[in-house]
Amino acid sequence: MRVLVVEDETKLALAIARGLQGEGFEVDVAEDGERGLRAAIERSYDVILLDLMLPGLDGREVCSRLRQVENWTPILVLTALDGPRSEADLLGVGADDYVTKPFTFPVLLARMRALLRRAGRSADPECRVGDLMLDSRARRCLRGDVEIELTSREFELLDFMARRAGETLSKEAILDNVWDMNFEGDPNLVEVYIRRLRNKIDRPFERDTIATVRGAGYRIQSDE
Ligand code: CA
Repeated sequence: MRVLVVEDETKLALAIARGLQGEGFEVDVAEDGERGLRAAIERSYDVILLDLMLPGLDGREVCSRLRQVENWTPILVLTALDGPRSEADLLGVGADDYVTKPFTFPVLLARMRALLRRAGRSADPECRVGDLMLDSRARRCLRGDVEIELTSREFELLDFMARRAGETLSKEAILDNVWDMNFEGDPNLVEVYIRRLRNKIDRPFERDTIATVRGAGYRIQSDE
């Protein structure tokens, strides 16, 4: 589960990011509207937490531009505004829901999870593909009862793929989403990591969970 936090109050942004990381989410923070918009378009997020009052492009503008380019990532607005008019206004530009500042972290988390559920995205920290289980909160990976040790990059790669089981993912999409946003990496790096993962999650168990889709990328699927 990947979350983009677009918030110019650094302390608040970091507090939200830390809280969400503690719950097993991957978090990126953008401190202004331009960067937020760019990140939201370039990477794939499960949900965006969007402040309204931002320097440069404000939250409303970010929201409506995303919807204009048919990016339908669920958006939870963080706002100091209140009242029915601002609510209609927010929903009018394509936000899905809002939380009024000041809010407590548990309230934010509950609203975000509810939004993810409505959007049909499971916010469950556990993800299963056949007998392979990933727990993004505890950062554990199990094949049946056997615990598998993964580095943090290997875990992120496997988690990204497992949550999109059945989809073919290009090396470029994997690089953009698993490595840092501005990482100009060599797509061959993905091959290296896929090989390492296979050596840990598949080979020792004589399994074939990670398929190569020739010319297109990789796909993870249950082989049971
Ligand atoms: Ca602000």
